[in-house]
Amino acid sequence: MTVPKALKLINWWIAQRENILKEVLNFNDSEITTIIHNSEKTIISNLKLIRGELVPKCKHPKKMQDTCNGQKYCMACNWDL
Ligand SMILES: [Zn+2]
Repeated sequence: MTVPKALKLINWWIAQRENILKEVLNFNDSEITTIIHNSEKTIISNLKLIRGELVPKCKHPKKMQDTCNGQKYCMACNWDL
């Protein structure tokens, strides 16, 4: 699996969990709501940590940036920006 594909999947997963979190907030207050809410927040924060590890920190100068099919990328490390 390429990194951009993995990132797409992780972003999809984060969006899905954030939707669940929003739905849970609509429930009446109860102990189980709090448990689910905290659990979802932990899952989302873990996914964001994984995503952060997959994204290289491109430090190349702006002059190295180009656009291909509307997507800006770095010509030095080939990473989408
Ligand atoms: Zn770069």
